[in-house]
Amino acid sequence: MKKNTQLPKTIKLFNFAKKEVNLHGEYKISNVPRVSEVARNVEDNLKVNLSFNLENGKTPCVKGIIESKIVLDCQRCLDTLDLNLKVLFNLAFVRFESQAEELDKSFEVYVIGEDEELDTLNLISDEILLSLPMVPSHEFDCSLSEDNETKVEKVRKNPFDVLKNIKIADFGKE
Ligand SMILES: [Zn+2]
Repeated sequence: MKKNTQLPKTIKLFNFAKKEVNLHGEYKISNVPRVSEVARNVEDNLKVNLSFNLENGKTPCVKGIIESKIVLDCQRCLDTLDLNLKVLFNLAFVRFESQAEELDKSFEVYVIGEDEELDTLNLISDEILLSLPMVPSHEFDCSLSEDNETKVEKVRKNPFDVLKNIKIADFGKE
């Protein structure tokens, strides 16, 4: 199997499902819409694995895995928060909602109507965003840390340190 191949820009649902296509690829986080806006490590890569099949002979489905480290801002202390993401999903694309009744409950169902094509990056972006915590924060109670306040105070104590150094330099010139 090929490694580091880029996935196609567009997923052709029925076509891929009929052929039972398996896709592997990597994306730089900076290229993934919306995820690139919340992640701090946009230069890192994420790995994507998608396998398609036709369920009940008519419903295109995709099983996928997305793996990546994502660095977010902790909403409590605003420090960085590393998440090791492994998103597993099992999607079914139906034309009508009633079509979903024939499917196993393990599927997450999307009603796509007549659309047969999906934007690959949009799909990946959706699945990642769904798996991220609504309010990302450290598991420990980082609000108890007084580090931030102490740091601010230290800076305020000697605001003229820099100016003092400049003066000395000037005297040296004369
Ligand atoms: Zn925190």
